[in-house]
Amino acid sequence: MQETRLNNKIAEIADFIAAEEEFLLLGHEDADGDCIGSLAGLAYLLKGLGKNPVIAIYQPVPEMFQLAIADELQLLDASEQLPEIASVIVLDSSGQDRLGPAADILESRTVLNIDHHEDNDFFGDLNYVRPEAAAAGLIIYDLAVSLGWKINEKAARALALAILSDTGFFRYSNTDTQTLAAVQELMDLGADIHRINRALYGQNKPEAMRLLGRGLSRIEVCGQGKVAYFYLDREDYRTTGTTSRDNEGFVNFARNISGVEVGIFFSEESDCIKVSFRSNDYLRVNDIAASFGGGGHPRAAGCKVAGDLERVINEVINEVEKHV
Ligand code: 5GP
Ligand code: MN
Repeated sequence: MQETRLNNKIAEIADFIAAEEEFLLLGHEDADGDCIGSLAGLAYLLKGLGKNPVIAIYQPVPEMFQLAIADELQLLDASEQLPEIASVIVLDSSGQDRLGPAADILESRTVLNIDHHEDNDFFGDLNYVRPEAAAAGLIIYDLAVSLGWKINEKAARALALAILSDTGFFRYSNTDTQTLAAVQELMDLGADIHRINRALYGQNKPEAMRLLGRGLSRIEVCGQGKVAYFYLDREDYRTTGTTSRDNEGFVNFARNISGVEVGIFFSEESDCIKVSFRSNDYLRVNDIAASFGGGGHPRAAGCKVAGDLERVINEVINEVEKHV
């Protein structure tokens, strides 16, 4: 029987937050700008309500997203023992499996799941899932406005970073008038979008550019010109002195080739091949990623596949070519 999946009402979300003092805030592994910006934004908002939020993340916050984080935020390493806080809020995560080592702690706690992935499986005790929202940060902004929470300058900056990051600074197809209006309002509240732009796109490390160069030199186009892909292997990371945390945004270079519908980037990690998909007009890459155990959005998705790099590339490209 198909389970009915309904969002809680905003009033129920408000009651949950009003009733508690301490909150553990979690996002997905390999946190991106939306994940970090929405976690930080929500934490500032909760502090403004006199609450005590603690954020747990899995890797150090990358330099490009540091702008969202001020000293007053309490950040823990999510792979360590997490505190016994009974109320957990999970952001930007389609399922419990996206939480890596923190997934196990949800069982014994009350969980509010706030997300914008259409494949979200409603894993929370309370759920607020809005796939039409361009970013999790936009949902947090809307909640703040609806519930009359004061958005201070730090919250405005973090939420603007979240929205601008997930819309590629208004370039991706999820950009709509709501995202523009929200960012306009957040600018009025103190978010400096030029600073955010420089943080996101103007802090490239020379070694990451050399890494990109190695990848771009291998671009292949197939599927009657509609599919473009490239890869980076462990040797590329080793030789350039980088890690896979340095490949943020690389996949867009494949998508942005003239005539291409889908760009794919393969990264050889220590335990798997990480695949990133970006499409332009029609291909639902989340469905393709799901067929390899991943997921995401219709125009931006990913998966982790076990096995040899060359074999994974062949399998994924074969599958994609059937759909373009
Ligand atoms: P990226 O290519 O930037 O890693 O991921 C793009 C989008 O795909 C992310 O926003 C996320 O929603 C989704 N995604 C990436 N990797 C995975 C994965 O392993 N599993 C699932 N379910 N979604 C993923
Ligand atoms: Mn997001």
